[in-house]
Amino acid sequence: EEEKNKYIRGKELGEGTYAIVYEGRLRADPTQLVAIKKIKVQKEYSDGIAPDAVREIKFLQELRHANIVRLHSVYSTRDQNLCLVLEHLPRGDLEMLIRDTAAVRYGAADIKAWMGMLCRAVAFCHDRAVLHRDIKPNNLLVAADGELKLADFGLARSCADPYRPMTANVITRWYRPPELLFGARHYTGGVDVWSVGLVFAELIIRNPYLPGNTEVEQIGLICRALGTPTEENWPGVTRLDSYTVPTDRVYPVAGRENFLGPFGTVGSDGVDLLMKTLVLDPRRRITSRAMLSHAWWHAEPRPTPIQDLPRRN
Ligand code: ADP
Repeated sequence: EEEKNKYIRGKELGEGTYAIVYEGRLRADPTQLVAIKKIKVQKEYSDGIAPDAVREIKFLQELRHANIVRLHSVYSTRDQNLCLVLEHLPRGDLEMLIRDTAAVRYGAADIKAWMGMLCRAVAFCHDRAVLHRDIKPNNLLVAADGELKLADFGLARSCADPYRPMTANVITRWYRPPELLFGARHYTGGVDVWSVGLVFAELIIRNPYLPGNTEVEQIGLICRALGTPTEENWPGVTRLDSYTVPTDRVYPVAGRENFLGPFGTVGSDGVDLLMKTLVLDPRRRITSRAMLSHAWWHAEPRPTPIQDLPRRN
């Protein structure tokens, strides 16, 4: 209630699927810019935001890291909309850099720098039992100094509470791991690691790696590219609620040779790390912590210093 009076709302910065984002200034010091993200509340739920949701999101205010978009404040408005006051990051996102093939050139050292920032952010969250659950290039914002910042914890919540069943309907389809596509209700940081792997692949090929148009097609793409999940490579998978795989054939689990062609520009260590993030069985997938101690970070080339990273004009 008094939280919202701390900010002066300015012009609209952009509109997304679930939110409108405005520029804002701190009333006490108008030189301080923020972004105010007003979450659109669906009419059907117009009795308002569950106090729960506000409490849950407030928890994210504690999550402070150089590579995570700072959440300054959360409040609900009189008309029952939820407003998030965020760090102001007007330089676009990683998706814009990946897509702008005409103007933006980047190489293995730049990919290593961006991936390092992403992996540190994710490991930091996982250490605190927070899953992001919607990692994709469009949720990685670029700060003025070149720092990459993980944004949009709209779906994030603590996985520390074992009594709340988690919904499987999270994560934009292309970045969604097989356990969620199969309807697993108990999942781990592995869901984020899979998404990180797909961001890694996309940075390299500059195209979405597994762009399924439907969930069924998404599963088909995963099977063809990475292998058909079976009891042999993923014990228990066939018991998941929505386990269905293409029946025309059982695709073998992809080996190193399948990755070296399309992804070889990041070197054999890079390919090794990529393969470990895209392991079908979430229990055998690398953890975000283990990603940080991988040999790739120490292999040549060294990551580009952030101030030298390519940017859009
Ligand atoms: P989407 O993820 O679909 O782009 P968002 O609701 O996250 O939608 O954001 C909508 C737009 O608002 C973005 O495209 C961007 O232009 C702008 N925006 C989002 N977050 C920030 C921020 N922290 N600082 C500045 N602009 C932002």
